[in-house]
Amino acid sequence: MNTLKDVFADFKKGLETIYEPNETEALTLLIISEITDLSKAQIKAFPEKEVSAQQAEKLANILTELKSGKPLQYILGKTEFYGLPFKVNPSVLIPRPETEELVEWVISSVRKENWTTGSIQDIGTGSGCIAISLKEHLRSFDVSAIDISSKALQTAKENAELNQVDIDFIEADILNFKSEIEHPKSDVIISNPPYVTLADKALMHINVTDFEPHNALFVPENDPLIFYKAIADYAIQHLTGNGMLFLEINESYGKQTVELLSHKGFQNIKLKKDMSGRDRMVKAMLN
Ligand code: GLN
Repeated sequence: MNTLKDVFADFKKGLETIYEPNETEALTLLIISEITDLSKAQIKAFPEKEVSAQQAEKLANILTELKSGKPLQYILGKTEFYGLPFKVNPSVLIPRPETEELVEWVISSVRKENWTTGSIQDIGTGSGCIAISLKEHLRSFDVSAIDISSKALQTAKENAELNQVDIDFIEADILNFKSEIEHPKSDVIISNPPYVTLADKALMHINVTDFEPHNALFVPENDPLIFYKAIADYAIQHLTGNGMLFLEINESYGKQTVELLSHKGFQNIKLKKDMSGRDRMVKAMLN
């Protein structure tokens, strides 16, 4: 028979080459809670509690997948973002906590402007996490979201249904928007585009580089701001007069992104750090 303590020991041993001990501990707690329906406090309090044969088998299967480097969110097929549930699979990037800070910035900026209605567009929506959480909190706004990947859009649509929000999803390539996207002006344009360079990739964990969608992550070495140029050009044509552009950025390119936007004629450009103190997001306006 397997006790919870045994499960912790198996996971600790199985994952020691992949995760830091505290990450393994946190992952194991989350997985046991998911499989047994026990709370984390109960799991901690009763290490001698036995798991059923069926639960033991599920736990063993999850451990095998984790050992391959597969992120837990893909194994479980779900995650949470901004307090909301999202389905995830390898055709979409797993939502990150720093992106929640970007969403927070949009919501507080819109409220500060006292806008009661308007329209928001999310470029490169992936799982739909940005568009859906914005719609959830800014109900009177029309929200649309584009992505180049039809598979990502399928997942984003399922997530909109899961969260019971109405979003207009559009399949399009922002790098070729002129011919493809006919879209009315928006009050807010937001994007978390690909920004990871080869140099960054070398430092990243295999569960990102080997499992998450490359077209959502990586940029060409010779043109790391390619998406920022295209989104800025798009925003120049598609932002309303007092509209706001919000971008998640590569922490190493804060200064360059601000310069790029400034050259393109944006005003009131603000660079903001994430909770880890890294340059992570930019807000800009046309006037
Ligand atoms: N922040 C993500 C990461 O660290 C990258 C997201 C992106 O490229 N837009 O993996």
